[in-house]
Amino acid sequence: MVVNRVPLIAGNWKMNLDHLQAIAFVQKLAWSLADAKHDAASVEVAVFPPFTDLRSVQTLVSADKLPIAFGAQDLSEHDSGAYTGEISGAFLKALECGYVLIGHSERRTLHAESDEQVAAKVTAALKHNLVPIICVGETSEDLEKHGPSAVPVAQLRAALSGISATADIVVAYEPVWAIGSGQAATPEQAEQVAAALRAELRETLGEDVAAKTRILYGGSVKAANIAGFMREPNVDGALVGGASLDLNEFSSIVRYQKHVGV
Ligand code: PEP
Repeated sequence: MVVNRVPLIAGNWKMNLDHLQAIAFVQKLAWSLADAKHDAASVEVAVFPPFTDLRSVQTLVSADKLPIAFGAQDLSEHDSGAYTGEISGAFLKALECGYVLIGHSERRTLHAESDEQVAAKVTAALKHNLVPIICVGETSEDLEKHGPSAVPVAQLRAALSGISATADIVVAYEPVWAIGSGQAATPEQAEQVAAALRAELRETLGEDVAAKTRILYGGSVKAANIAGFMREPNVDGALVGGASLDLNEFSSIVRYQKHVGV
């Protein structure tokens, strides 16, 4: 089946930019993309600010009808109740979030998030009509021990337990060794794992989901290397960390189709 997957460039701000800085950044990003006559139908742009920025970003995007999607960096697996510090999917949907990152490697390592918790969060996101961006990736030790695809594929399989064959999801392959290190994977490495992840989607959820699901690469993506990743058939976009905080750099990543030689 041939499906046109609209590429997605997603900026994970991590714990950076307060709500005032977020407003300024999103406004400038919108101006920069408008100046460049960016066509949102050909490449979708999304930002993932801290929770405290989401209401401000929602207000701006909605008032000015900006062609910029947004989402949260995490959510609770629970809907409400005695879970101090947690944020429910229902609250995110009420703020018109379209997406939510789940299982980012910083959540898995700094907060010891297990595959079971990641799966529960994916279920919670879908329950509230949020598109989960399921993050998977291997450490350099995993890479040495198990090769490139085994750990990301196993993480994806675990994350998908309990979801249906019609689910709207995004997968982000983010090798842990490439995140924030300045040492990106090669496009060939990203393609090899993305193809294995798509095969896993096919096996678990069927051909339709495998064909329509966007698989992003993340890990030290910048304007200088994005075009190489986007040439790969199974890479449908990028999850960008550090470079998403630099307006010119991020805007240039989004406009990768205009880069010379692409
Ligand atoms: C990330 O935080 O998801 C990420 C990929 O970071 P960076 O682009 O800085 O490597």
